[in-house]
Amino acid sequence: MRKLSYVALCVALAVAVVASLAFDFSGAQVHARSEGFHIVIDAGHGGRDGGASSRSGTLERDINLAIAKHLKAEFEHRGAGVTLTRANEHSLASPYAKNQKRSDMDERRKIIEQVKPDLVISIHLNSFPSNPAVRGLQTFFDKTGEKSKEYAQAIQENFNKSSLNINRRATVGDYYILECTAFPSVLVECGFLSNPSEEKLLKTTAYQKMLAQLIASAVI
Ligand SMILES: [Zn+2]
Repeated sequence: MRKLSYVALCVALAVAVVASLAFDFSGAQVHARSEGFHIVIDAGHGGRDGGASSRSGTLERDINLAIAKHLKAEFEHRGAGVTLTRANEHSLASPYAKNQKRSDMDERRKIIEQVKPDLVISIHLNSFPSNPAVRGLQTFFDKTGEKSKEYAQAIQENFNKSSLNINRRATVGDYYILECTAFPSVLVECGFLSNPSEEKLLKTTAYQKMLAQLIASAVI
């Protein structure tokens, strides 16, 4: 009987060790990077924070995630490692946090700091309801990083060269996700939900995949 409880104790200890390898003490998953080129893809918003929305109710949160997943596939196809800050519709915020937005952004920063990526790409959508004609993609970069600027310019050039009929410049962006770590970071505003035809395109898998290809081929 004594031997049996000793075995049970050993099993319990082994389980605890394995669990502690996969999770840190706060219960959050520990993220590791691959040896080669590694990217953190950050789908903006999530949970109750839907981000921008169209008149018909399309939420930025959902399109961001769809594009992020296609982007992950594109990079992996090209041999890069990828970590998603969120892989589902939920926010990353602790349910107990008073300030849900801050907690969500904090968790994103922690993932980036853990992974130490070669590049962070944050995916967002725009909205400008007072002028529904405004459309197009624009890439932003962290003002402190030369590499961030180079990546953002390469991505924007790919958009401008494509059949999307866009002529914009990559520019400095004043966003927390760009500035919260020292790793090269860009933010792509993938289009305007306030423009009905762009909204329609953004909802299609073919267009989401095309944007992912344009971003991935610019970076790799
Ligand atoms: Zn956004």
